[in-house]
Amino acid sequence: MTQMENQPFAKSLNHSMSTIGVVGAGQMGHGIAHVMLRAGHNVLLLDTSQAFVDAGMKRIINGLARDVEKERLTEDQRQQAVTRLKTTTVAADLAAADIIIEAATEKFDVKAAVFRSLEPHCRPETIFASNTSSISITRLAAATGRPAKFVGLHFFNPVPVMKLVEVVPGLQTSPETVETAIALAASAGKTPVRVNDFPGFVSNRVLMPMINEAVFCLMEGVADAQGIDNVMKLGMNHPMGPLELADLIGLDVCRDIMMVLYESFHDSKYRPCPLLEKMVAANWLGCKTGRGFYTYPRQ
Ligand code: NAD
Repeated sequence: MTQMENQPFAKSLNHSMSTIGVVGAGQMGHGIAHVMLRAGHNVLLLDTSQAFVDAGMKRIINGLARDVEKERLTEDQRQQAVTRLKTTTVAADLAAADIIIEAATEKFDVKAAVFRSLEPHCRPETIFASNTSSISITRLAAATGRPAKFVGLHFFNPVPVMKLVEVVPGLQTSPETVETAIALAASAGKTPVRVNDFPGFVSNRVLMPMINEAVFCLMEGVADAQGIDNVMKLGMNHPMGPLELADLIGLDVCRDIMMVLYESFHDSKYRPCPLLEKMVAANWLGCKTGRGFYTYPRQ
């Protein structure tokens, strides 16, 4: 994808919609920042420490360089994209953002605190969006002073590759906010799908119980990890097995999403598998810590 190809999408965006705040420079945040830069937007990237911000920035710079190698960007476009990226650890530095996409840890209290810290610095018209995988958009929106300007914008991992964005209006989200969110996702070359606000939306309501069941199969010795993944790849035509996908997503993220489903539906079918809990406790979180159901070189 090139900036040129994105121009028709970008035109449908409000003129002022060009500075995107991204909160969290981790797996998703760095990817969202990357695709927004690639689409021609300015990006203000915030995390809690300089080390996290620097790690995210390094991954973005590497990603943009890969875009040049793969001829998705010209060298000139790459250089421009790099100059449009600013990083910070201070919430007030996101004051200029037209929309802020939060991609912090999958905990309600963390996300609500992020929006509370941003609120006094942002213009009233700034849209707040969350990349949450499962937390109620209506509940997050109600924790801010701008529920009509709050929307779920759920990107998929790895962000530069995956086409889908679930656009999730909360009960109080205005139609204009939804339209802007859809236009922004499209401007980044994504296919937005509007989904209503239920726990896990569509994607994780279906995916996470499957991953959790695969972990139960492993725990009970039904097959080893490779065997379970091979069954799903070769028998169901899934491009990745559920356990390798869990490693890519992050086992802590998978556990947190299962907990949201469990606590939201009060249904035991969503309880996280004890083996998943144990691996998270051991900090075996998948690709990002070098060990999950498989082992990986450290990033
Ligand atoms: P991650 O652990 O890789 O990154 C989270 C980042 O948020 C970390 O860098 C952390 O330092 C930062 N952070 C935590 N609290 C913060 C705060 N108060 N202010 C600023 N930054 C803060 O996690 P991730 O996988 O990128 O997930 C982020 C969000 O995206 C979660 O809500 C998750 O459910 C969602 N999500 C994840 C995936 C996936 O496959 N990993 C897919 C779609 C959506």
